[in-house]
Amino acid sequence: MKANYICPHCRSFLNVGDKIIIAAKNHKKEKGLLLLSMELGDYTVLKHPSFNIEEGEKINMSCPSCNENLKKHKIHENLFGIIMQDEEDKEMQILFSGTYGEKCTYRITDKDVESFGSDAGKYIDLDNLISMS
Ligand SMILES: [Zn+2]
Repeated sequence: MKANYICPHCRSFLNVGDKIIIAAKNHKKEKGLLLLSMELGDYTVLKHPSFNIEEGEKINMSCPSCNENLKKHKIHENLFGIIMQDEEDKEMQILFSGTYGEKCTYRITDKDVESFGSDAGKYIDLDNLISMS
C-alpha cells in the first residue's frame, strides 16, 4: 500500500524513501533523527550511532519540519501521533509509544481502531478510545 505520513501541525510529508523521519530528544536532551519503518508493525528504527537511546528510555518526538511536539496528551502522556494518508487520500491517525523499543502502534479511523505490536495493550483500552480521540 502506498501511503503518506503527514505532520498534524504543519502537514509536511514525513516519509522520504521508505522511511518516516522523526526528530527526537533523549532523556539527556540530546537531539537526533530517527528513521521509522513505513510498515505498521515493523519496529526497525534507524539512527546515527552517536545518538544514544537506551531500550526502554522515554524519548520526546517532534516534527523535523516545524519542530512541533507530536505528543498526544489527550489520549495518553506517552503516546505520539502523526497522520497517515492512504492512496485514496483518506486520513487516519497513527499513534505510537514514546518508549524506545516498545512495540505498539494504533491506527485510528472514524470507524475503528487497529492495533499493532506486542505491547499494544499497554496504553489504550480499545473500547474507550473512540470517545477520547
Ligand atoms: Zn510539522
